Amino acid sequence: MKLQSFGVIGLAVMGENIALNVERNGFPIAVYNRSREKTDAFMVNRAQGRNARAAFTLEEFVSVLECPRKILVMVQAGKPVDAVIAQLKPLLSKGDIIIDGGNSWFEDTERRTQELEPSGLCYIGMGVSGGEEGALNGPSLMPGGTESSYQYLSPIFNKIAAQVDDSPCVTYIGPGGSGHYVKMVHNGIEYGDMQLIAEAYDLLKNVGGLDNQQLHEVFAEWNTTDELNSFLVEITANIFPCIDPDTKKPLVELIVDAAGQKGTGRWTVQTALDLGVPVPTIVAAVNSRIISSYRNERIAASRELTGPSRKFSGDTKKFINMVRDALYCSKICSYAQGMALLSKASTIYNWNLHLGDMARIWKGGCIIRASFLNKIKNAYAENAFLANLLLASEFKQTILDRQAAWREVIVTAAQTGIPVPAFSASLDYFDSYRRDRLPQNLTQAQRDYFGAHTYKRIDKEGIFHTEWIPVEEAKK
Ligand code: NAP
Repeated sequence: MKLQSFGVIGLAVMGENIALNVERNGFPIAVYNRSREKTDAFMVNRAQGRNARAAFTLEEFVSVLECPRKILVMVQAGKPVDAVIAQLKPLLSKGDIIIDGGNSWFEDTERRTQELEPSGLCYIGMGVSGGEEGALNGPSLMPGGTESSYQYLSPIFNKIAAQVDDSPCVTYIGPGGSGHYVKMVHNGIEYGDMQLIAEAYDLLKNVGGLDNQQLHEVFAEWNTTDELNSFLVEITANIFPCIDPDTKKPLVELIVDAAGQKGTGRWTVQTALDLGVPVPTIVAAVNSRIISSYRNERIAASRELTGPSRKFSGDTKKFINMVRDALYCSKICSYAQGMALLSKASTIYNWNLHLGDMARIWKGGCIIRASFLNKIKNAYAENAFLANLLLASEFKQTILDRQAAWREVIVTAAQTGIPVPAFSASLDYFDSYRRDRLPQNLTQAQRDYFGAHTYKRIDKEGIFHTEWIPVEEAKK
């Protein structure tokens, strides 16, 4: 019996599409899904005429795979992954490779790697970005885990991944849970990008007074620039002209303004706090989704709480360009935060991440794909030990040139009562990072005052504590 090269467990949206991508690239596949109906439907529909074998038990599934077996598990993240691994483990042989392609929490991936490697099995935790379309036609892949197994996977992954500038959007990320960690931070950055675009939209619409046709034109034009050309700006431009067939109104106007989330943005914020890395733009993006979900409360509050009545009276064309500059500067800050988080995680967990490679594999296939990532890749090529992206010469100059516009946009937003939490958080990050003295000297004095937490001095070495007393008492 001729054996199949690659196995996929889980035939929901992602599994089905990756399986077809693998097969299309010349690797015969075997598929298995917990409930048989999905497998049957896949085989009679999309897998028709393909080199695909269906299995209806895991025993049958592993028996049709060549060794070392390469098995992609594409099921719901969390307990289902553990359940599949527990069923698979007794059926596998030394050297076989389990790849978890879901959005798993990186600590679960670390644990699973540690549980499987001692028995000779290889474990890869792989971030997959690009949604349904990417899975089928070329995702960005972020595989981390047992390095020795990667030689068996790279011929397949190099072919199925998105191809950009002749290089595939995949690389071995690092050991343990690093692949899933990088994917999580990618998603955090995606949250930041989406929020920044939403704020630009809000400003252009509600301050600049642009209609949907004008919004389409502005975003389409921005998408032609080296700075903002990206998948997210492109789809934003495409959204505005879309008309609802029933009401003949712009569809975007009919969509409830309460954003959902599946948790990877929140995870990014949680781990950033754990590692002590500031990611205020991503925090603002997660908070914005949360506050948007308080829709009924907001509607009730809108009848009681008023904002400024001031209207924008400036030059609209100039304002559009200022918003573009604010968006780009904020985006640089957002990526600087994401990269700083990856850098710190790499140090703490000993992952030896190559940050320039992360920017390279995000250039295609994934949701944050953008021309701008080339600049980040180049910045790390120039200096792999860059402390912060803001210090790269290109970004330093960009912000220098545009910060006046960025600041003015935020002032205008405040004066007209438009919330721009991610624009503001980005500017605050920039202003905090660039200052040699922050007001936390006072914070330290307060901590010492009420809790004897001690402080250091700028003029001499040592740890100090003061018996602080109120001015009135000191006078007595
Ligand atoms: P999903 O809706 O997250 O999961 C459904 C699949 O999981 C089905 O095949 C289901 O089998 C299987 N499953 C659930 N519990 C199971 C269990 N206890 N044992 C065995 N199988 C079980 O599918 P998805 O949207 O394709 O996503 C798969 C993974 O990729 C997830 O981790 C997701 O977060 C991640 N991801 C998704 C996207 C996306 O755009 N959808 C993008 C990137 C990453 P049954 O048919 O038997 O119920």
